[in-house]
Parts: sequence; C-alpha cells; structure tokens
Amino acid sequence: MKLERLNEQIKNCRRCRLWQYAKNAVPGEGPSTAKVLLVGQNPGVEEDKTGRPFVGRTGKFLNKVLAKNSIRREDLFVTNIVKHVSPNNRKPLPDEIAACAPYLEKQIKTIKPKIVVLMGTVAWQAPRVEGVEYVETYHPSAAMRFTKMRKRFEEDFTDLK
Ligand code: URA
Repeated sequence: MKLERLNEQIKNCRRCRLWQYAKNAVPGEGPSTAKVLLVGQNPGVEEDKTGRPFVGRTGKFLNKVLAKNSIRREDLFVTNIVKHVSPNNRKPLPDEIAACAPYLEKQIKTIKPKIVVLMGTVAWQAPRVEGVEYVETYHPSAAMRFTKMRKRFEEDFTDLK
C-alpha cells in the first residue's frame, strides 16, 4: 500500500477514542525508501498542533542525538506506535495500542527498512515484521532526564550509525 493512502486512513481513523482529543493525526514523516524507521510512543501537544512527529522538546533532544552521530533526520522515517495525542498526555491504553499498531505494521511493510528502532516500553510492543532488524532503546524523554538512560540511548544511536 502507498504511504499516502495509509496516511489518509490514519487521518480518518476512528478505531479507538483518541481521535476525539486530537487536532491532527500524526502518521509520521520521512522518505518511503528509508533504511531506518524510528518509533516513539504517541504525539504530544506540539506534534498534535503541527501533525508532525517529534517536533517538541523531546524531538529537539532527539535531533541533537542524531546530529551528534552524524545521522540525518531527513534520511529516516520517524513515527509513533499510536498516531493520536492522548488526553493530558497520558500513556496510551492497551486497547489504543492494539487498535493503532496495524498502521505501524503496514508502514514497516511498505517502507521495508533494514532497521526499526523502538524507543520506549510502549514502542517495544510494536508488531515484528519478518526480515527486519529491531533495536529496543529508551524513549528520548526518559533519556533526556536520566543520565544513565541518556548514556545508553546515545550509545544505541552511535551503534546505529
Ligand atoms: N513523544 C513521542 O513519543 N512521540 C512524539 O512524536 C513526540 C513525543
């Protein structure tokens, strides 16, 4: 399936309750030929406003770690396991993750990246597609706050490079 069609489906999605709280769905962005796909939890307030992933404070931290390792964000496909913001930024519920995960699976099958980087425990629940390598690391918002996690997070991106 083409990414544009998938994006349309995500924008019109009513599979769970989250669309009611959202200004915009955040399908993800990046080249359809990306070799690496980054997966976070779900959009925050800034992402909801703009319809783009990782554009707030956490995104700025992620951008810094990528730049430090000479990884160009424009080369990656960046998305989340859940495509809508949640009320008061709470963690997505199990049924919301289950409802949304098939979109991520379709994105992985369409883009066919070599590596999928799952950032944080919610993203770790992502569906696994055969032939794709998965890397589990911390969520950048945790890495931003806790020194030990930051060190591991940065090392994981050095390895990715
Ligand atoms: N946190 C996420 O998990 N995803 C975003 O897009 C932004 C913040």
